[in-house]
Amino acid sequence: MIEQIQNGKSRVYPIVYREKYGNLSSVNCYLYDNGNSLSLIDAGLKKTNFIEFFYETLRQLQLSITDIDQILLTHHHDDHTGLINEVLSIKDIPVYAHHKALPRIHFDESYLQNKITFFKRIYVEYGCIEIVSERFKTMEQTYDNREQLRIQTTALPLHNGDEIEGMKVMEVPGHSPDSILFYDQSVRWQFSGDLVLKNASTNALIDFDDDMQLLPTVSQYYQSLLDCFKLETDWMFPGHEEPFQQHQDEIQIKFNRIERKEKRVIDAVAKGHRDTLSIAYEIYGKRLEVMANLILSEVIGYLEFAVARGNLFKTMEQGQWKFNVVQK
Ligand SMILES: [Zn+2]
Repeated sequence: MIEQIQNGKSRVYPIVYREKYGNLSSVNCYLYDNGNSLSLIDAGLKKTNFIEFFYETLRQLQLSITDIDQILLTHHHDDHTGLINEVLSIKDIPVYAHHKALPRIHFDESYLQNKITFFKRIYVEYGCIEIVSERFKTMEQTYDNREQLRIQTTALPLHNGDEIEGMKVMEVPGHSPDSILFYDQSVRWQFSGDLVLKNASTNALIDFDDDMQLLPTVSQYYQSLLDCFKLETDWMFPGHEEPFQQHQDEIQIKFNRIERKEKRVIDAVAKGHRDTLSIAYEIYGKRLEVMANLILSEVIGYLEFAVARGNLFKTMEQGQWKFNVVQK
């Protein structure tokens, strides 16, 4: 039987699908019954095994898809949206997500074009366009298949401070620009998406703002952790790994890790590596070639974080960013 967590009339059924997923060991979504209605918080992976696991879990709980009243998304990534169309094909229910998630889950044509334009420019400026050539093939394919990929409804926008099903919506950007958490103050529960994972790290993936500028993802992530830290919390229900308590201890570990990662890029620059690619090779070696997209997000994110904190400065030389240590 599935472990459920209950407090008064509120009940959460974690759906923890255990399978290696990148560096992670599970993909999670949650059924949340607040005594009024049943929400599906995140919607997992579009994958046969996941779908079967999802239905099997519902069966054990003696629930069915028709019992679900709405879908709430913590962010747009495809390991959180996979079953939306499956659910909608059985029952037409509202889907809520951060307003910035909407063009992403609708696979909006101009959004996808902007994304390709942005990444071409950014990877040129950071001198690493060759190593990510595969990524552009994927982006072009996504663009071509956008009609099949989009969710089969018009999702409804959420904003910071909104209330939904008795939970407060809080923006926590960093992992993605549209990351939010749902906080139920009455039971002190957080449905926190990929913000804080126990014993696993969250990547701050590079992304762009409305003006097509690179977002300060690591700075945003740092601030979001601070905001999350302050919420009085009994249970955290994350997008991966196990639900956990004592969230402040976990967040402290993340702060320490951010400091270490910042130091690592500064040390690489201090050794004379001035461009993004050689900094990335210095830190990650050959792994860079297998996980170029993730690693470059990380390296660019931390370089910019060190610049924002006044520990590095950058100069544009022949169209490419070069990094230098600020001598103190
Ligand atoms: Zn995820």
